[in-house]
Amino acid sequence: MAVFATLTGKLAQLLSSAKAKSDHLLHTHVGLVPNPVSERSKHLRPRIHDAQMFRSVCPYCAVGCGQRVYVKDGRVIDIEGDPDSPVSDGCLCPKGSASFELVVNPNRWTTVKYRAPYATDWEDKPLDWAMDRIAQLMYETRESTFRETNEDGNPLNNTLAIGSLGGATLDNEENYLITKLFHSLGMVCIENQARI
Ligand code: SF4
Repeated sequence: MAVFATLTGKLAQLLSSAKAKSDHLLHTHVGLVPNPVSERSKHLRPRIHDAQMFRSVCPYCAVGCGQRVYVKDGRVIDIEGDPDSPVSDGCLCPKGSASFELVVNPNRWTTVKYRAPYATDWEDKPLDWAMDRIAQLMYETRESTFRETNEDGNPLNNTLAIGSLGGATLDNEENYLITKLFHSLGMVCIENQARI
C-alpha cells in the first residue's frame, strides 16, 4: 500500500511539473518558435487603456443591455458591452454594438426641430422652449377637454384628447413614472412600443 501511495505521489509530481513546463511553453512560444512577441508588441496597449469608463445602458430597446462608454479628452472613443451587467453579461446585439456610430455621427440631430402649424420649414429650438411648450399645450388641452362625469352623471375624470405613445427604449422605471403622471392627469390613451 505504501509503495502504491509513493508511486501515486511521484506520478502527480511529474504530471504537475510537465503541466508547468507546457504552460510556460504556451506563454513563450507559438508552436516551436520561441519569443514570438516582439518588443513593440509587448508595449502595445488597447486604445481604451487610459480612457475613463462610464457605465450606461443601451438606448435602443427595453432589454436594457449594459454598456461601457469610454471617454478620452472629453470625447467618446468607444462603447462596448458591460460584462458586469446582470441583464446582458457583456453582450450587445448588432444594433447595440453600433451605438458608437449613433453617438459619434455628424448627421446626428442635437437640437429640437419645430414646424409651426401650416409652416413648411423646420426651425431649431432650445430644449427648454420645447418642454415649456409641451407642458403649456398639455395644460390647455386638459383644461378644455377634461370630463368629470358622463351624460348619466357617472364619474369619468378623464380626457381623451391627449395620448402617449412610448418608445421601445423605455424601461420599467420610466414606464412607471409615465403611467403615474399621465393617469393622474386623467389620460387613458397610453401605449408603449415594447420590444420584450
Ligand atoms: S437594442 Fe440590442 S443591445 Fe440594445 S438593449 Fe436591445 S437587445 Fe440590448
